[in-house]
Amino acid sequence: MVKTCIIGAGVVGCYTALLLADKAEITLVEKSPVANKPCSGLFSSRIFEFLSFPKKLVEARFEEIEINFGKRKVTLILEQPLYAFNRKKLEEYLFSLAKKEVNDVIIDRAISVTKRAEVFLERSGKMKFDKVIACDGALSTTRKSLGLPSPRFYLGLQYFIKSKEKNEKIRTFATQHGFIWEIPRDGKIEYGIFETPEIARKIFGKFLREKNLSVHNLRGAIVPCGIVTSPYSNVFLCGDSAGMCKPWSGGGIIWSFTAAKIMESIFPNLAKANFFVKKVFFTKQIFYHRLSKLVRKCSFLLPKKIRIDTDWVF
Ligand SMILES: Cc1cc2nc3c(=O)[nH]c(=O)nc-3n(C[C@H](O)[C@H](O)[C@H](O)COP(=O)(O)OP(=O)(O)OC[C@H]3O[C@@H](n4cnc5c(N)ncnc54)[C@H](O)[C@@H]3O)c2cc1C
Repeated sequence: MVKTCIIGAGVVGCYTALLLADKAEITLVEKSPVANKPCSGLFSSRIFEFLSFPKKLVEARFEEIEINFGKRKVTLILEQPLYAFNRKKLEEYLFSLAKKEVNDVIIDRAISVTKRAEVFLERSGKMKFDKVIACDGALSTTRKSLGLPSPRFYLGLQYFIKSKEKNEKIRTFATQHGFIWEIPRDGKIEYGIFETPEIARKIFGKFLREKNLSVHNLRGAIVPCGIVTSPYSNVFLCGDSAGMCKPWSGGGIIWSFTAAKIMESIFPNLAKANFFVKKVFFTKQIFYHRLSKLVRKCSFLLPKKIRIDTDWVF
């Protein structure tokens, strides 16, 4: 069996561990096993093609998204439902499954990774593997220690209020490079922003103050957009470490799971997996980025209602 280290037991690391469980002897390394990543957990129904998730993870289901470009309103009619998962529960669920399938779980921080698949851990020291799969998030230690470039960084901020209001749709408000969202879910309303780090807090603060909401207790995390693949045959980057978020919405999970499946289908040939993943996602990213800029500029040309494949959005 191929001795494989998966760094990061977030959703992508855990899903990858489940995929490879029969093909590799897996060591899963996680620096902090408490799920707390801020994320809206919105996924198109395609998420169920990857794994059968229990219904209790889903907090809401939507068929429409209203986009506000200033005074102009455009409604996206979603061809498949969009599901709002409870992100914390999703992460805990995947971790509980992955723990049962892997050979070892090490709670430690990877401080450096080499192209020869050596992993240096803060407390446990050096470990040698045949392959390393880095799912260590937006600020990936693996990406940094291999000297690979960083993707473009956006900031995602989240804020929740309690509410019994029944609302069947998601509302979004276009900002300079991204958008603010309002998602009604399970007794709460989630507000959030996806914007460049320099202006995200300022714009979101103004929006919340106008709604008489507090600007304290914001939760935030980096959203990396821009595919970075490993040039090394023993190392594969997946998820946020590889910048696999859609520049359109910041959604990262469906693309990351797709990349993990591509990799699994040709495992242990990671050189080929790196090549294919770059081929599939590099042009997609550029296309989405340009299209998102164009739509923002020419929003006045858009019809009031657009039917859209939900997969395009999240
Ligand atoms: C506010 C917000 C809203 C979002 N909403 C959506 C959405 O609705 N839909 C969607 O698809 N995506 C969304 N995203 C993006 C999505 O959350 C990410 O793409 C996804 O979490 C990436 O998962 P990951 O496993 O690659 O990274 P992470 O979830 O960041 O997991 C990385 C894991 O690696 C561990 N780790 C990091 N460094 C080390 C190290 N050195 N050693 C050991 N372990 C390490 C971390 O502790 C963590 O557990 C959103 C993001 C934000 C910020």
